Amino acid sequence: MNNSEITIGFLGLGRMGAPMAGNLLKAGYTLYVHDVSPDAVAALVREGAQAAGSASALGRLCDVVFTSLPTPAIVREAALGPDSIFIRGKPRVFCDLSTSGPALAKELSAALAPQGVACFDAPVSGGIKGAREATISIMVGGPEAEYESVLRPLLEVIGKPTHMGETPGAGQTMKLVNNLLGAVAIGVTAEGMAFGIKAGLDPARMIDVLNKSTGINSATRDKWPKSVLPRTFDFGFAAALSLKDTKLLMDEAEAAEVPLPLGRIVQDYLERTLAREGADADFTAIAKVVEEAAGLDPERKE
Ligand code: NAD
Repeated sequence: MNNSEITIGFLGLGRMGAPMAGNLLKAGYTLYVHDVSPDAVAALVREGAQAAGSASALGRLCDVVFTSLPTPAIVREAALGPDSIFIRGKPRVFCDLSTSGPALAKELSAALAPQGVACFDAPVSGGIKGAREATISIMVGGPEAEYESVLRPLLEVIGKPTHMGETPGAGQTMKLVNNLLGAVAIGVTAEGMAFGIKAGLDPARMIDVLNKSTGINSATRDKWPKSVLPRTFDFGFAAALSLKDTKLLMDEAEAAEVPLPLGRIVQDYLERTLAREGADADFTAIAKVVEEAAGLDPERKE
């Protein structure tokens, strides 16, 4: 199939979905889109997409359907609910780019594979910038044959895919591991920075040193320079979504009898961040919770 023969549907045009859908458009694919936000749909239509009007219409019109939705419950509803993608049509490939956990990936595959749908979980990492620049890492679980013949070329348009295996949920498991490391990096960076600042060190100089020392991590490299040092706390990943990911991980780990004490600490930091900053808080605002506990003023301008 070349780009003009394959019709793609994209459901969920948020911070990650919109730029990913935009990259498929730029690559010349015919793209139908849907989102509960009319503004989000209008923005993609301006870029050349066509509005499907509903999830079920998207399913009727498209060969391949991607989802990039906030929670597992919303993904389940989109795939299996009363107005879902598979109610009126039969896309032959379904690919969930959301972080929705291995349990849902298994449930969707069990429901859709017997209907002849190649079902993939393909969560992403790399943030909004990575989604815009098509550099996000994509961790894929699902059938190898359809991955190679249909999905991989599409995923290479939106990022850098790695096939983790045919077991449903293999991509989601990898993503939860990655998110644990990313969230712990924020927590431990916040702790180290608070300790240094209270002792009188300059925060910008600390980050500079960490980035050329063994303490370097994704928080010191990206999150502090962009969103914590300037005190904007706007990295682009909601604390609520990070908490959802951490809870998914903790549930899976408990079922697998793998103790994850660092995961528990990060979950607590995220819950306190939401309680302090409200439902829209960015996950970099963990730094404020840690600073407050250290007796620093989290509202100061650096
Ligand atoms: P977002 O909240 O910005 O976007 C979600 C979109 O889904 C919104 O446009 C919303 O209107 C739409 N939506 C909600 N319910 C819907 C429904 N029933 N039908 C159609 N559309 C619906 O979220 P995001 O940051 O783009 O994240 C999407 C997924 O990607 C999440 O699973 C998140 O965990 C994951 N993720 C996000 C980032 C990030 O940096 N933001 C990075 C990696 C992974």
